[in-house]
Amino acid sequence: MIIEIIPCLSDNYSYLINETETGTTSIVDPSEFNACDRIINKYKKLDFILNTHHHADHIGANLDLKKKYNSKILGFNSDKNRIPGIDILLEENQKYKIGNLEFKVIFIPGHTKGHIAFFFEKEKIAFTGDTLFSLGCGRVFEGTHEEMFNSLNKIKNLPPDTKVYCGHEYTKSNLNFCLEYDSNNTHLKNKKIDIDKKLSTNQPTVPSTVADEIKTNIFLRCNDPEIKHRLGLKDSSDVEVFSKLRDLKDSF
Ligand code: ZN
Ligand code: FE
Repeated sequence: MIIEIIPCLSDNYSYLINETETGTTSIVDPSEFNACDRIINKYKKLDFILNTHHHADHIGANLDLKKKYNSKILGFNSDKNRIPGIDILLEENQKYKIGNLEFKVIFIPGHTKGHIAFFFEKEKIAFTGDTLFSLGCGRVFEGTHEEMFNSLNKIKNLPPDTKVYCGHEYTKSNLNFCLEYDSNNTHLKNKKIDIDKKLSTNQPTVPSTVADEIKTNIFLRCNDPEIKHRLGLKDSSDVEVFSKLRDLKDSF
């Protein structure tokens, strides 16, 4: 399995997946036609388009790519009227094969009502769209804070060594937010060194891993007593802490 990271627009990532045995080629969240097509050209075909959710910066190249390569477009069933060109309606926990690779659909509403992650169980790779970012999470647009919290917990419960490929390069601003409210976290300080190094040489900060995110991403650390204390929410539930953090980040 080859994964190519394709920077699109100002801070989006699309991902090309090439399954090397059968040559099956897929793309996750094609944002921009030209940037994606330049990479697809190396493989000469595009069998599948996988959409995590319906937002324009994730489906922008759906129709042009489908037209050029006759690809099949996959998305969550409840978004059948919002994902352009959709062919295959996926359901929660469904397993689906693209060539010899199999992914499981993880339903993670909150950012949007129909948001999903693609989890390649055998390879331990997850594409999390705008739900889990490196050191952050997406804004809650269509769901409740509680839904988003539960969705993040689903990702948190994947195997720790799962690689996480997210939809945006927001890591630096997420890092600054984490440092503000989790300033004694040594894992975070070490991660800062790594992030600064990557960004200074124009490298993507993705992928991270589930284990890494649990240690450093404040939105996965709502049960941490020190963070609760720092927020003045010593006796609050984890989901209340999450809500507070999400609100603070919205205006950070
Ligand atoms: Zn989005
Ligand atoms: Fe997005």
